[in-house]
Amino acid sequence: MSLFKPLETKQEENKTSNPSGEIEKVKCLIIGSGPAGYTAAIYAARANLKPVLYEGLQPGGQLTTTTEVENFPGYPQGITGPVMMEDLKKQAQRFGTDARWGIVTDVDFSGPNHKITIDDKHIIEAEVVIISTGATAKYLGIESEQKYMGSGVSACATCDGFFYRGKDVAVVGGGDTAAEEALYLAGLCKKVYLVIRKPFLRASKVMQERVMNAKNIEVLFEHNTKELRGEGVVEEVVLIKRLGEADEKEVVIKIDGFFLAIGHTPNSAPFNKYVDTYDDGYIKTIPGSSKTNIPGVFAAGDVQDKVYRQAVTAAGSGCMAAIDAERYLSEKH
Ligand code: NDP
Repeated sequence: MSLFKPLETKQEENKTSNPSGEIEKVKCLIIGSGPAGYTAAIYAARANLKPVLYEGLQPGGQLTTTTEVENFPGYPQGITGPVMMEDLKKQAQRFGTDARWGIVTDVDFSGPNHKITIDDKHIIEAEVVIISTGATAKYLGIESEQKYMGSGVSACATCDGFFYRGKDVAVVGGGDTAAEEALYLAGLCKKVYLVIRKPFLRASKVMQERVMNAKNIEVLFEHNTKELRGEGVVEEVVLIKRLGEADEKEVVIKIDGFFLAIGHTPNSAPFNKYVDTYDDGYIKTIPGSSKTNIPGVFAAGDVQDKVYRQAVTAAGSGCMAAIDAERYLSEKH
């Protein structure tokens, strides 16, 4: 789910659409509510920056769609993603973070202070901005995927797996997300097909072992998805085995649910008019810091990290962003 509406409104329109005509001035604005945003908020609040944090469309970020988090230090028995995010929010609020619901619809980083428009109407002027808007699940881009959205197609097993109890489903992808989703679904469904386009899994060894040991997961290596079919809902998936090879063949599998787990796109669109990004959209930060090319604008978490993408690294970079922001402000004043 994206944190933003597309930037279809023009900046000049937004500037005049504030009903009260007043611009709210804040010292530190944090955009996004995953581990990076909340950790930045904890540090910024404790440094007396009085942070205002906008949660976006998916409060808590991607971890709220995860089941068990077993690799975040400090939880020997693991913790569920939603509980962890709720705890992080409470911790940020305990120190005075003003957490709000709202969507960034425009930004203007051209001046010394930064203007951010929320929900097309409320304009905030911030001395420092921390962008921690995370990343959004990718889709394959085939037509039938959109056709059956909500009628058998999902990008979140934790959210929708319940509806497929006792049924047969397919998961596409060979990374840790796909392995995690397949294992979660294996606990609910009769059969899980894990569809992987390469002849190997990219997931970590421990996840690979769990997938291979699950009795009701069948791994289909070297299979690409061609289309989904069904009367109103997904009933079967058409796969191409060994695409482009001499022995290429079509394989049709009966399924009730089709889950995407093929990676993510960084949520940087509202900022990339001003903030430098790589070709794939990830925000560029100065190595060893959270600084972007715009003074006073910092980036943390998955929106700027295509390598590690972990809750703990996101939290660490949120901490860096708050410290960088605090130092920037103390040098400025
Ligand atoms: P990855 O980028 O690691 O994997 C994406 C997978 O989807 C790959 O197998 C890729 O195939 C496949 N894929 C991509 N596009 C297509 C397509 N068009 N058709 C078919 N298959 C496609 O993404 P993840 O979301 O799995 O993981 C991201 C990061 O988060 C990783 O660093 C991972 O380790 C981490 N993570 C950690 C977890 C944990 O520790 N609990 C849980 C989840 C993620 P190919 O290999 O051919 O490119």
